[in-house]
Amino acid sequence: MCGIIGIIGKADATPRLLEGLERLEYRGYDSAGIATLVDGAIERRRAEGKICNLNALVDRQPLPGSIGIGHTRWATHGGITKENAHPHLSQDLGIAVVHNGIIENMTALKEQLMADGVAFLSETDTEILPHLISKHYVDDPLAAVRAALSQI
Ligand code: GLU
Repeated sequence: MCGIIGIIGKADATPRLLEGLERLEYRGYDSAGIATLVDGAIERRRAEGKICNLNALVDRQPLPGSIGIGHTRWATHGGITKENAHPHLSQDLGIAVVHNGIIENMTALKEQLMADGVAFLSETDTEILPHLISKHYVDDPLAAVRAALSQI
């Protein structure tokens, strides 16, 4: 069972995202990651294994920003790798998604997206979501999420 945290704040989000993920450790996980919004662009850090690995990465490569999401992953689709750790991004890097659970119709959706030219960077079912949301996104993010969720 994975853990998810999201923060929209004014102070640095990263320390609180990491603390939130530590509080969720009891649920079990195999990798962890966070993403924040920095000057209008999404930045991401991910690591296999314990949250201390992610902490060490963030120490080496700090992640500013006051808006962010975090995830501890319990792999269901794809191995325990940094590439499969969440958050996953859309191709234009404008949408980041963390997700708990399984997308049961992933094969059909992935085939459609690949036929549209999407290149997948992970083995996860989750990566379908940022690409689907991006496909539906015109100017209303909520409508794009709703449209994507209606397909999964
Ligand atoms: N199915 C997703 C994956 O394998 C999410 C697993 C989870 O709930 O952590 O990445």
